[in-house]
Amino acid sequence: MNAKKSCDVIVIGGGAAGMMAALFAARNDAKVTLLEKNEKLGKKVYITGKGRCNVTNGADMDELRKAVVTNPKFLYSAFDQFTNRDVMELIENAGCPLKEERGARIFPVSDHASDVIAALRRRMESLGVNIRYNTEVTKLLLEDREIPEGEKSNQTEAVRGVRLKGGDSLRADRVILCTGGLSYETTGSTGDGHRMARESGHKVTECTPALVPLTVQEDWCRDLMGLSLKNVSLTLINGKKVLYEDFGEMLFAHFGITGPLALSASSFYGKRKNGDVKVVIDLKPALDEDQLDKRVLRDFEEAINKHFRNSLGGLLPSKMIPVIVKLSGIDPEKPVHEITREERRNLVHLLKNLTLTVTGTRPFAEAIITQGGVSVKEVNPSTMESKLVKGLYLAGELLDLDAVTGGFNLQIAWSTGHLAGESAAIAEE
Ligand code: FAD
Repeated sequence: MNAKKSCDVIVIGGGAAGMMAALFAARNDAKVTLLEKNEKLGKKVYITGKGRCNVTNGADMDELRKAVVTNPKFLYSAFDQFTNRDVMELIENAGCPLKEERGARIFPVSDHASDVIAALRRRMESLGVNIRYNTEVTKLLLEDREIPEGEKSNQTEAVRGVRLKGGDSLRADRVILCTGGLSYETTGSTGDGHRMARESGHKVTECTPALVPLTVQEDWCRDLMGLSLKNVSLTLINGKKVLYEDFGEMLFAHFGITGPLALSASSFYGKRKNGDVKVVIDLKPALDEDQLDKRVLRDFEEAINKHFRNSLGGLLPSKMIPVIVKLSGIDPEKPVHEITREERRNLVHLLKNLTLTVTGTRPFAEAIITQGGVSVKEVNPSTMESKLVKGLYLAGELLDLDAVTGGFNLQIAWSTGHLAGESAAIAEE
C-alpha cells in the first residue's frame, strides 16, 4: 500500500504496539514522530518472558485467535493483516534471529528481550522515525468537525495534535494512542491513555488485573509456600459454572496460588465472577477415584504398621503431607491398618478435589496484563481508527483486549500496532 501524500503522524507510547505502529506508518511514507515518556523504548518489553521476550506464538492463526480471552472477533482483521509469521519475519530481517520452544513459544535466539527492541529501533531509525524520549503527552488536541453530507459517521471531532508535559504542543494529521494498560506501572503504563481516550469521548470498560496470582481464604496455603506442583489439573468454579480448567504446573505462595495454571485462571476470574469462586486442584489427574483408591490401598498395605502421617510419602511431596493429613480429618497417629474404607475414600476425594476459596487477585503491579480498556465498540476493527474522533487511532493493551500467556498478548500489540500505523499513514483527508 502506498501513501497518497505524506502526512504527519504522532505515535504516543514506545512500547510494543507503538514501535510497530511507528514503523509501519513510516514504511507507508508518513512523517512519524514517536513520543515516549521513558528514557528508553519498550521498558515493558524488556521484562517480558522473564527478560527473554516471548515475541509471539508459532501455532496457526486459529490457535492464536482461540488464545484471545476478551473480544477475539475484533482482532480478525488485525491478525489477518499481520500474522505471527509476519512479525517473526520482520524481527528476523531486522537482525534478531528467533527460535521456537515448548508450546510453540517464539523467543530471540540470544534470549535477550533487548535484542528485539534494538532490532525494531534500528528499523524505525532507518525509516526516519523521529523518536523523542522523556516526552510525556498530557492531552489530545481535538477540533470540531463537520460531517460532510452523505457521510455516515459519529466522528464529530478530529485530532489536530497533542499537548506535552511542560505545555508545548505538537501538530499532527493523525495520532496513534499506544500507551498500554495499567499493569507494572513502573514500566510507564500508568493509564494516561485511558484518561485521554475518556476525555475524547471514549468509554473505558472496567479494568482488572489479569495473568496475575490469585489470593485465597485458606491459610494452609502459607504452609505450602514455595511448593511447585507439576502435572496437576486446576478448575476455577463459580457456583456450578466452570470458568477455566487446565492441566499443568502451579505454585503455592503465602497469599494463595501462582504459576502458569493460576495465572491463566485469573484471566477468567476478574469480570466473570458472581459470588463464590473456588479453585479445585486435582493432585492426581491421571487416575480416576477408583484407580486412585486402589493406589492408596496399595500404599497403605505397604505401610500397614505405620502411623497415617507417615504413610503418604509415595503419593505426595513431603511439604504437602501435614496439610493433607490435617484436611483429611484422619488422626495423624492412627495406625494405617485402622483407617476405615470411608476415611480412605474421603482421602481419595480430597486428593482429587483440593479446594481453595478465591478472595481476589494480587494488584496491577504484579499483573502481566490488564483486562478491560478502551471499548472496542468505538474503534473500527479494519483500521483501528476511533469511530468518534477522525484521525485518532488506538492500538495495544490500551484496548479492551487480552489473551492467555504464550506470546499472544504481544501478538495483539504487534498486529493492532501494525494496522493502526498503516491505516493512519494511508487514510484519506
Ligand atoms: P506497553 O508495552 O506497556 O507500552 C506502552 C508505552 O507507552 C510505555 O513505554 C509507556 O511508557 C508509554 N506511555 C504511557 N503513557 C505515555 C504518555 N502519556 N506519553 C508518552 N508515552 C507514554 N506478552 C507476551 O506476549 N509475551 C511475554 O513473554 C510477556 N511477558 C510479560 C511479562 C511481564 C512481567 C509483563 C508485565 C507483561 C508481559 N507480557 C507478555 C504482556 C506484554 O508485555 C504487553 O501486552 C505489551 O507490552 C503491550 O504492549 P503496548 O505497546 O500496548 O503497551
